[in-house]
Amino acid sequence: TPRPLIAGNWKMFGLEASLDEARAVAAAVAQTPPAARVAICPPATLLHRMSEALSGESVSVGGQDCHAAPQGAYTGDISAPMLADAGATLVILGHSERRGSYDETCEEVSAKVLAALAAGLEPVICLGETLAQREAGQAEPIVTGQARNSLPDELAGQAFAVAYEPVWAIGTGLTPTIADIGAIHAAIRAVLVERFGEHGATVPILYGGSVKPENAAEILAVPEVGGALVGGASLKAKDFLAIIAAA
Ligand code: 13P
Repeated sequence: TPRPLIAGNWKMFGLEASLDEARAVAAAVAQTPPAARVAICPPATLLHRMSEALSGESVSVGGQDCHAAPQGAYTGDISAPMLADAGATLVILGHSERRGSYDETCEEVSAKVLAALAAGLEPVICLGETLAQREAGQAEPIVTGQARNSLPDELAGQAFAVAYEPVWAIGTGLTPTIADIGAIHAAIRAVLVERFGEHGATVPILYGGSVKPENAAEILAVPEVGGALVGGASLKAKDFLAIIAAA
């Protein structure tokens, strides 16, 4: 099994001064190499500066989204080759904040995955049900449906990760029970194996949604949880390092 991946998603937080937090994470990771791989996905404005600040360190830098086209007349968008050019080696795709606020469909996410692969980026593909879907007993079919439709066949043999992020657990302090996390991760694993065979058995499945130093060890110990995608708690080096140490 590959090393777990602990990735920080800074979302639309962070100015130049925040690079000090990333430097502190990188310095601690260099001092005491953790069991996990570590990545930070800052806002696009910080990508290049962060990748320069951390170059040669063992913390990877990633984007939070990309366009499906390599370039074009798409005002405000950023392409996968541009992320790679700025120093990114991975990219979060299909985050629920993109699916929700920008109506991104699984088909669009799948097209972005192809763009990421073409640019040599490792996609981290997010899936997750809303509260209404969970309350209707639909969490598992929704998430496995998203997995089937957001993961193109071209991922076969490529480095990628999946992140299960229940929408209602993001930024709320709420998390599913350990049993519920285990059940959804097992269902995602089954889809990965069905689609990608032996390779699918090793793809890291991250959990995301209110991961904190206090709950990280318990969540990361759940079978089929291969890391964490961390929002709020990734903004401060101290909290993020505590989560990294729990992996
Ligand atoms: P929080 O950790 O702030 O709940 O965010 C989770 C998330 O959306 C990471 O992508």
